[in-house]
Amino acid sequence: MGLVAAAAIVTGCDSQQPDTAKLTDTKANAAARIKAGKAARTKAAAKVKANELGQIPVLMWHRIVPKPQTTDDRSPEQFRADLERLVREDYVPITAAEMVAGKINIPAGKHPVVLTFDDSSPSQLTLNEMGVPQKDTAVAILKEVAAKHPGWRPAATFYVTRDMFGKTVREEQAQALLWLKDNGFEIGNHTRDHLNLRGRSQKEVEEQIGTIGKQINSLSYTNPTTIALPYGNQPRKKEWALRGKQYNHQGAFLAGYTPAPAPFSKSFDAAGIPRIKVMEKKGDCAQFCSAAWLDWLKSNPDMRYTSDGDVSTVAYPKYKAPYLRKSFATWSLPY
Ligand SMILES: [Zn+2]
Repeated sequence: MGLVAAAAIVTGCDSQQPDTAKLTDTKANAAARIKAGKAARTKAAAKVKANELGQIPVLMWHRIVPKPQTTDDRSPEQFRADLERLVREDYVPITAAEMVAGKINIPAGKHPVVLTFDDSSPSQLTLNEMGVPQKDTAVAILKEVAAKHPGWRPAATFYVTRDMFGKTVREEQAQALLWLKDNGFEIGNHTRDHLNLRGRSQKEVEEQIGTIGKQINSLSYTNPTTIALPYGNQPRKKEWALRGKQYNHQGAFLAGYTPAPAPFSKSFDAAGIPRIKVMEKKGDCAQFCSAAWLDWLKSNPDMRYTSDGDVSTVAYPKYKAPYLRKSFATWSLPY
């Protein structure tokens, strides 16, 4: 069959005179079209002041509870206000996995933000008997805010330990993880026992990360591609968090205290990506938590990541060129 088909095609070609003039013309047109396309994309990027080498806030929440007990807790009201501020200031969520993969697919002029939740507590995700998230859990509030603001995608990353949202029965653990997966949320690795990995042997580090990764996979058929390190502490060799016999992560996230470099920027380090605690400007948070950093990013637009709306390019003002990571040169769109 293949041979017959091939013969027919050859015959078809032979029956026509090649029109070289026309071919050349088409080629020239194609080149012109590509050039015009690039010019249009450059113009569009300049118009929205795209800066895809700018910094990205990776925000870190723990429990969402009515009566916050530590500065890691937020009340449902506070969490709603946290999200509403992001909407107002043109931030659109992406997952941690999308960030480290450089898959930042958000509209032109918008800024990416990564929403992360540590420790897999029931206050983040509890499903009722109908499989619907309970009111005032983190996922319910995320969905509620997204419904109020069409186009605002409720993407987030949940860093899971053996606590598994308070579920001890295997089927209930699977329900929770599969709900996250089915609703477009990312399931990340936060180690099994939430131990400080600093100073531990490679064997212990790999066991802490590998066993929970395996459990997540057996429950939800997903392998985590990112990890959040307990207390933000890296193991003796930071690469141990990324790669082990049983796991392969594209990014390891810390616990403090600055916005993160763009994945296209030279300063990006996949083994140690900073996050920001969500809190008002007071006490220890006067300078290095979310309210302070969001203020700073707002008043320093040249430092903040702004998308050109085209996921296939890395657009930035020409003077930022020295900060581009060489491996992304093919996609670069300086203006
Ligand atoms: Zn934690």
